Parts: sequence; structure tokens; C-alpha cells
Amino acid sequence: MAGNVWVLAETWRGQVSETTYELLALGRELAAELGVPLQAVLLGHQVKSLTPQLGAAESVVLVDHPALAEPALEPYTYALAQLVKARQPRCLLVPLTNISWEVLGLLPAALELPCANFCRDVRAADGKLQARCLLYGGKVEATAAVSAAPALFGILPGSRPAEKGRGEKAPAVEEVPVELAEAARVKFKKYLEPEAGDVDITQQTVLVSVGRGIQNQDNLALAEELAAALGGAVSGSRPVIDQGWLPLSRQVGKSGASVKPKLYLALGISGAPEHQEGMRNSELIVAVNTDPGAPIFAIAHFGVCADLFDIVPALTEEIKRRKASRAA
Ligand SMILES: Cc1cc2nc3c(=O)[nH]c(=O)nc-3n(C[C@H](O)[C@H](O)[C@H](O)COP(=O)(O)OP(=O)(O)OC[C@H]3O[C@@H](n4cnc5c(N)ncnc54)[C@H](O)[C@@H]3O)c2cc1C
Repeated sequence: MAGNVWVLAETWRGQVSETTYELLALGRELAAELGVPLQAVLLGHQVKSLTPQLGAAESVVLVDHPALAEPALEPYTYALAQLVKARQPRCLLVPLTNISWEVLGLLPAALELPCANFCRDVRAADGKLQARCLLYGGKVEATAAVSAAPALFGILPGSRPAEKGRGEKAPAVEEVPVELAEAARVKFKKYLEPEAGDVDITQQTVLVSVGRGIQNQDNLALAEELAAALGGAVSGSRPVIDQGWLPLSRQVGKSGASVKPKLYLALGISGAPEHQEGMRNSELIVAVNTDPGAPIFAIAHFGVCADLFDIVPALTEEIKRRKASRAA
């Protein structure tokens, strides 16, 4: 139906991504403000069994096609373009993840429609949609009013808690055929997997993250010991990965992973916008930095302005001592 709020439901390897639920939560608020239904758009191949998980939406527009079996720019874009043209939703919310965000490079051009990107929020006011967007790698926040419809929005991870986007009941499903005869110029070949045996930092509840302040690879042992005491893993900022002190799979930030642990301990990390982009949604951020003006302190829940080489060994010892006394 024309005028609906649409959310692109993202799936990967047979799972609905957490970000999809965040967008469904945002989409539900927006649909209520506009007084229109919320619909999820699910593209893929043999993914119908996932539709009951999209119950926060009133209904699901499902496109099943072999060309959509893996996330690929051109088939995804052309399928979405056909749907948007035919159904004229009020807006489409697209998750800005490694899987989906390139779609927003091509889709606005294919449809000749406006797109507000890097949005943290979208609201309806006076018949217009207003998006809060991050610009210049997060240094500036701007409000963009989009009156044209359909409007396209790229939504950053963490816009809403994922729990609010889960629904109880199975939504109605409408399967829509699309024409994808056009040969894709970019073809999916294979996934580059993280090294076998390495931890998945996006799944950790505790991350001890080190930055350039750790000085050299040998000093990583301090962070490893603290992470082991806390039952977590070690991650790092980009310079630490660029130096080869940690593998790429441990990088947090814009060109690394987005993480949301219960505790993110930032040791010797300045907190550049590109780093914040990957960790600002952590439940509890604790920063240790010698520079009181370090940007990380602006988003940390607790900050210690001190030398990490004084703090970390003392903290590790104290945690070990408390664990031992609890076990006794
Ligand atoms: C397109 C692009 C993508 C990028 N992607 C990423 C990304 O994914 N992830 C990422 O992290 N960065 C990324 N960056 C780089 C980013 O801009 C920063 O350069 C980087 O995050 C800085 O890393 P850092 O905080 O470890 O180092 P620095 O900025 O050098 O900060 C080191 C900090 O350690 C503190 N320090 C020094 N010694 C101690 C000590 N003994 N005890 C306590 N504190 C100490 C200092 O006060 C300082 O604040 C990207 C940049 C670009 C342009």
C-alpha cells in the first residue's frame, strides 16, 4: 500500500540480523506518528520461514529469487527499486551494516529519490520526515527534513533497542515477483572468514580494547590478562591493527566491527569519531586515558584520567583477589 513505512529486513546465513529489530522498533514509532502501517521488506532465497520473526511489522513484503541468495548490490537494488516504484511507500529504512549499506549508494540514483544517510533517528513532524544524521565521520550532527516521498533513510546501528522490535504474532506475508533478468556486473564469490579459532568480538559481553597508548605488542599481555580476569576478549583501535599487533577481526570502528558489549573498557584510546562509530552503543563504557581532553571521555560512563600502565595491573589484581575471595 502507498504511504506505508518500510523497513528493509536484513538476513545473513539464515538469520535475521539484530539491526533489523532495531529498525523495526524505529519503524513502528514512525508508522504510529504517521498513522500508517509498518511493513518489513524481506529479500532472499528460501527465506519465507524467517517471516514469523518479523512480527513487529503488520505485514511482510517477500521477494524470493535465486539471485538474492547472498547479499549482492545489483540484484538487491533492482528488486528494491521495482518494489518502491510499484508500491510507493512513504519511506524505506535501510540498515547501515556491511551487508546492506552499499544499496543506498545505488538505490537513490536508480529511483531519482532523496536519501538521508547516517541517521540516528527519524521522526515525523508537520507531514515531513526529519532525520538526525551524523556527518563528517560523526563530528557534526545535522537535522535533515525530507518532504519528498518515497524517502530513503540509511539508519546507523543502535537507533533503538533491538528488544523493542520483536513481535509476538506472525505477520501477514505477501510474496511479490520481481524481474531480475539483468546480469549483475558485480558477482558474489565467497566470504572472507575470520581466522579459524579467533573470537568474534561482536558476541563478547566484555571487551578490553586497546589503543595506541598501549605502545607496543608486548604490552598487550596486560590487556589479555585483564580480559581473562573479566571473562572477556581483547579488541583494538585501528592503529593497533595497522601495526599488526592484533588481527583485523579485532578492530572496532567504522572500518572494523560494531560492538555492543555490556562492558567496553577503552585503554589508551583517544575516541576518534571513526572509533566511536563502532562502540558508542556499548552498555557501559569505561575509559582510561592520560589526556583529560580525550574525546573518549565525552561518551564514557566512567573515566579514569591516569596512566594505563598504573591502572591495568592494579585492576587485574583486584578482580582476581575478589574472584578468589568469592570462591573461597
Ligand atoms: C576512513 C577512516 C576509517 C577509520 N576507521 C577506524 C576504525 O574502524 N577504528 C578505529 O579505531 N579508527 C579508525 N580510523 C582512525 C581514527 O581516525 C583514529 O586515528 C584512531 O581511532 C586513533 O586510534 P587511537 O585512539 O588508538 O590512537 P591515538 O589517537 O593516537 O590515541 C592514543 C591515546 O592514548 C592515550 N595514551 C597514551 N599513552 C597512554 C597511557 N600510558 N595511558 C593511558 N592513555 C594513554 C593518549 O592520550 C591518546 O588519547 C579511521 C580513520 C579513517 C579516516
